[in-house]
Amino acid sequence: MASVYELYEKHVNPGWAKLVRFMGLDRAEHHAEGCLVYDEDGVAFLDCLGGPGVFTAGHRHPAIVAAVHEQLDRMPLSSHLLLNPVQAQASERLAAVTPGDLQYSFLCNSGAEANEGALKLARASTGRPGFVSAIGGFHGKTLGALSVSGREVYRRPFEPLLSGCVLVPFGDVDALAAAVNQDTAAVLLEPIQGENGIIVPPDEYLPAAREICSEAGALLILDEVQTGLARTGKWFACQWCDVEPDILVLGKALGGGVMPAGAFMAGAELWEVFAENPLIHSSTFGGNPLACAALVAMLRVIEEENLCDAAAARGAQLQGRLQELKERFAELVLDVRGRGVLVGVEFADADIAGLFIAGLVQRRVLAAYGLNNPKVVRFAPPAVISEEQVEQVAAAADGALQQTAEVLDTIS
Ligand code: PLP
Repeated sequence: MASVYELYEKHVNPGWAKLVRFMGLDRAEHHAEGCLVYDEDGVAFLDCLGGPGVFTAGHRHPAIVAAVHEQLDRMPLSSHLLLNPVQAQASERLAAVTPGDLQYSFLCNSGAEANEGALKLARASTGRPGFVSAIGGFHGKTLGALSVSGREVYRRPFEPLLSGCVLVPFGDVDALAAAVNQDTAAVLLEPIQGENGIIVPPDEYLPAAREICSEAGALLILDEVQTGLARTGKWFACQWCDVEPDILVLGKALGGGVMPAGAFMAGAELWEVFAENPLIHSSTFGGNPLACAALVAMLRVIEEENLCDAAAARGAQLQGRLQELKERFAELVLDVRGRGVLVGVEFADADIAGLFIAGLVQRRVLAAYGLNNPKVVRFAPPAVISEEQVEQVAAAADGALQQTAEVLDTIS
């Protein structure tokens, strides 16, 4: 019988198979619980990538699994004609926990799909065609989301992309102000760039973006697919600077690490487009009862288990330990940064980052670089990671850095 690796080579993605083999990750996963993923031989890996960023509540959180089981036995998918009570409940709960007056939700299946909907809502409600977003930003790989994402290597083969999209340097208020004009439907930003290597903008950036949009009559869309739902130590990263978006985009952890789910949310005024035509945007599986049951359970878990405080505390511990290592390995590590359990470690180049990742994997810790910046290794463990597990990660990082330094010494 062919191995899983061989099946990947032959039927899934041969390039990816090669890449994971290079990083020592060519093993098949088998089951998972909490912060641990087990391979077919029962070897446990501490999951510091988590989807990435999907498993804020850990793998298979019992309350979320139970809610999905209960729904599975009753009605997994909607008739789409009778009202879907779980979708109604999920939308009401989201309105209750999100900042500002984001009263309405469109539920869908992924982050990219949520961004597509947000872009369409912005165009339909403003009557303007343009979008301004950030270089290095990541919003998904469907055509619309790709058009506002900022890495050439993913964009070029698919050009021409959506017209009217302008990219500006992230964190630069003047550049943003200069790019927004009467044709701008929306500015789309991540509060912290995740795939670009955990770039935290200056404190004044998002408040300034809010002001620039309001003055120009453009909408502010915040993509919190990676930063939302407790990951940075608050429910939403925009709450660190008290900025309320016109449209909020969610995904990843939204389904509790058990079901895929995405959403875009906005207030009553923007939602008028649905009053005019309720089917202007729709999805067969978006808002399905299974995903909504997981979503409602996830929001309850965040509240009841205080995952925001857990993310802040464990994130501070992890960042502290990695900062100590940065000082000890100053010739290797250029920077350690992040917020909550979203932490990046920057190296001089992608090869050194690759060696570090391979060293972590040998020590049974899973981490990886972001899609838009292979020089930065991202740690995005569950917020439920224990103090002891953070120490294990720190010890593995220490060993991996020593090993990386030795390899570089040998080849230099
Ligand atoms: N937006 C952000 C900020 C992301 O980090 C990602 C995925 O990494 C996406 C959107 C796309 O989400 P998905 O892969 O679920 O389409």
